[in-house]
Parts: sequence; C-alpha cells; structure tokens
Amino acid sequence: MSFDWLALRIEGIYRQPVEGFAMLRIKLPAGVLSAVQGRGIGELATLFARGALHLTTRGSIELHWVRGEDLPAVKGGLAALGLTSRGACGGAVRGVTCASQGSAGFPQVESLARQLQRQFTGNPRFERLPKKFKIGIFTDAADRGHLIQDVGLVLKGSGYDVWIAGGLGRDPQGAFLLEEHVSHGRIIPLIEAILYVYSAHAPAGKRLKHVAREMGQEGLRRLIGEQPAASLEFSPPAGLPDNFIPSPTDHGRLEIPVFGGELSADGLTRLADFAETWGGGWLVVTADQNVALHLTGDGDVARRELALIGFAGESKAEQVCFRICPGSHECRMGLAQTRDLARLVIDNLGPVAGAARWAISGCQNSCAQPQIADYGIMTSGVVKGEDGSRSPRFELYRNDGEGLGEVMKKDLTTEELLTAVCSLG
Ligand code: SF4
Repeated sequence: MSFDWLALRIEGIYRQPVEGFAMLRIKLPAGVLSAVQGRGIGELATLFARGALHLTTRGSIELHWVRGEDLPAVKGGLAALGLTSRGACGGAVRGVTCASQGSAGFPQVESLARQLQRQFTGNPRFERLPKKFKIGIFTDAADRGHLIQDVGLVLKGSGYDVWIAGGLGRDPQGAFLLEEHVSHGRIIPLIEAILYVYSAHAPAGKRLKHVAREMGQEGLRRLIGEQPAASLEFSPPAGLPDNFIPSPTDHGRLEIPVFGGELSADGLTRLADFAETWGGGWLVVTADQNVALHLTGDGDVARRELALIGFAGESKAEQVCFRICPGSHECRMGLAQTRDLARLVIDNLGPVAGAARWAISGCQNSCAQPQIADYGIMTSGVVKGEDGSRSPRFELYRNDGEGLGEVMKKDLTTEELLTAVCSLG
C-alpha cells in the first residue's frame, strides 16, 4: 500500500524512517487532557503504536510506528475521545503550547488555548499556509518560550503582550514585541490579521520570521495594522468556562518526570488512573515533556502512591531537566541517537550543570528548543568515514537569560562534547 505522505501532513501525520510507518501527533490545548482521554490514548498506543508514546516539547502527544493502514482506526479512535491531530503537522496553525501550567493564571491561559484551537483547527481559511504557524501562551517571560513562536502571548494582568515572528530551525530568530496589553477579545482577530499577512507575503516553505526579515519589523507591523481584523474586538465567550484545570490548590502541583518524554502506553494508563484519584480527573503534558497534575489531596500520600505505580522519579536521568527530541531513534531527519546521548551527557554532568535546564535536538530543526535551555546541544551534521560509518557533530549552546542562546563550541565529536560538558560548572 502506498501513501501520499505530503497530503497526510495536514492530518498531523509524518512518515517515519521505515517505509509504511507513520507518526501521528495529537493536539492538546495547553497540554491538557482528561483521565478518560489518557486511558483512550494508552489503548490506541497499545493497539497501533507498539505500546509507546512520546510527549513533545510543545505539550502534544505523538504516536510512532503506526502502520499506514491503521491510520483511519487511530483517527477514528481520537475523534471518539474528542481529540484531533488535524493541523498538527504541515502548513497549519499547530497545537497551542503553554509552559506556565503551574501558575495561578493557568485557567485563563487554558481557556484561551482552547478558544484558539477551536478557531484555527480544521478552518480552511487557515490551512494551506506557507509553512507551520506556532502559537504559545505564557504567564511570564522568564523561560523565553514566547521568543520562539510565530505568535507568543504573555499574560499581563487581564491582557496579553503579543510577540511575533520568532522561530528556531536553521536560521533562529527571536520574536519582537508587536503590541502590549492586548485585551482577550482582540487576540483572535489580531492573530487572524497576522495570518492574512503571513499567507499573502511569505513564499512557500517560509515562516513569518522570513517576512519580518524581508520587510523589517516596522514594515510587518504596518501591514498587520492595515488589516481590518487587527482592530476588531470579539465579545468574551458566554456559557460554561473553557478551562478544565483549576488554579493550583493548597495541596499544590505534582510534576512526574518522564525521561525524554518516552512513556509506555501502560504508563499513561496508570497515570490517568492516578489522576482520577489525585488530580480531579485531569493531567497536563508539560513543555519539559513531563506529566503534571494539580493535587486534590495530601501530597506526601500522593507521592507514595505514585512510587507504588512505578513513578518514583528517583533515577539520575529523571532528575535532570532535559528536553529531548526523538532524534534518529524515530525521526527521518535525525542525525544522532538523542536519548542515548542525553544519558551519556547526564552521566558526565557536575552538580551545577546538573541543576540547569538542558535540551538536545537531533538536527538543526531544533524541536527540543536548545536555544532557550540554559545549555543546549544541537546535532549540526554528520561526518562520513571511509568505511561508510557516520559520526554526528554537535554544537553546544549557552543561554545566560537574555534572548536566544549563543553557540559556545561547535563541530564537536561525541567525545569532545562529553569533555566540554564535564568542564561545565
Ligand atoms: S530536531 Fe530534527 S531529529 Fe529532532 S524531532 Fe525535530 S526534525 Fe526530528
């Protein structure tokens, strides 16, 4: 059976390194899913994805190694759970990410993420974009996530600062501030105005940052401002609230480390059952590829229960904050075995560097966002040996808290990278 992989992208599907197999990415607004949905995804992963799933750095869930002929059954199963993968790949508005799930402002952020997903997912006006379009919402700017979005929204009081035209990949560029204190009711029409300008002015295969480079920030700002939608204000949605996760309670929040976002289907099912008892029936996938919930009972008792179901989180690998893309383990673009390398790096970290936030990407697409981690590793290429062997080369990044990280060292072999890591801190 052959597949039109390019046409399938809009359905959130990419081909994998082995012909006939696919990755399917599930959109979760602000990373939130219910225990029922968690169990359902666990069941689909057991039946169709070799019993495993991947938590992404944008708070989505990927199913890998799905056979092409099983894709309709997986899509149908997701629809029955109220979930979709539409627009999770290809030229579309991707899943709305959030890195502030533990903050008091998260209910407001989750509501907006759900409204944005409803507005832009499966909406023909906003599909067939020149390339991907990423939106992220944050309750503060400290972790720099807003800098790498096409539209990054930072909550300020009752409104949002709107940053645009950021992105990583081969030509990373930090977002710039388009407008401050934008009211909730203006966010959707303003993003529509940005999308109209993007569709009209970016060539195929280019992101909004390309338009900003070509026209300059002021040129892009002027074009957006000329769109009628840019000055519209929608009424706030009426009816039941959109958010499912309440603000953190007195019992606090529990984050369950998942190394590299690699979780078994059975593991997700156990966490979903746990969330039913301890998290009000809701979980979140975090931007650090972990699972979190807002506790509804005593935290010490919950942690003991969590250890009993296999999530004690005591291994060294789980204790270092390390975002890891699938790399060549599962991705066609991958140049390095990212998870294996991350384990080697962790074994070589001193205590100071071990307390920092790390990220590793298997190619220059930067899916693990190494430029906004404290320390980042990018696989920059491979060198082919005379015997046909392929040795990856790496760049080591450092971010001192301002903007995107800078390259500290480049063209490192694996051994040179580990030596450099050893000397940190
Ligand atoms: S950074 Fe490269 S290797 Fe890693 S998931 Fe993205 S495209 Fe694949």
